[in-house]
Amino acid sequence: MEKENYYKHCVSLLNERGVSIDDIVQCSIYLQAKYKNNLSEEYYFDAVNSVLNKREVQFAIMTGIVLDKLAEAQAIPDKYLQECLVNDEPLYGTDEVLAYSICNLYGSIALTNFGYIDRKKYGIIKRLNNDKHQCNTFLDDIIGAIAAAAASNIAHNKSVLSKKD
Ligand code: MG
Repeated sequence: MEKENYYKHCVSLLNERGVSIDDIVQCSIYLQAKYKNNLSEEYYFDAVNSVLNKREVQFAIMTGIVLDKLAEAQAIPDKYLQECLVNDEPLYGTDEVLAYSICNLYGSIALTNFGYIDRKKYGIIKRLNNDKHQCNTFLDDIIGAIAAAAASNIAHNKSVLSKKD
C-alpha cells in the first residue's frame, strides 16, 4: 500500500470510531497550553498530521482499532483476553504498551505527556472512556499518545527556535 493510502486509511478508521483530527489537536493544545507559546491551531494540526504520517504510528492505530473492533464483536478467539478487552481490565496494560510505541518515537517528553493526559482524561479521551456503545480499550491510549507525541515534537521544535533567536 502507498504511504498516502495508509494515512488516509488511518484517518478514516479514526473517524469511523468517532475521533477527528481536531479532537487530537485539542488534546495537544491542552498539553502545551501551560507553556503559553501562542501557537496557532494550524501549527498543532501540522504537528498531529506529522505524527499520523509515520508508518509505525499507522501500524499502532490499525492494530489497536482492529483489537477494539474484534472485542466489540465478541470475536477475540481467547475468552480470557476477550473479557479483559471488553471490560477494559485495569491491570491489562497492553493497551498502554502499544501507545508507548508511538511515544517512544518522540522521546521522554512524549512519555510524560502521555502519562499526564492519560490521568487527566481530557476531551475526546474522556468521551472515549465514557462511551458505552463501543469498545475503546486501545483507542483512548492511541489518541493520548498521538496528542502527546505531537506536543513533544512542538516542545522540541520551539526550544530549537528559541535557541536560534
Ligand atoms: Mg485503554
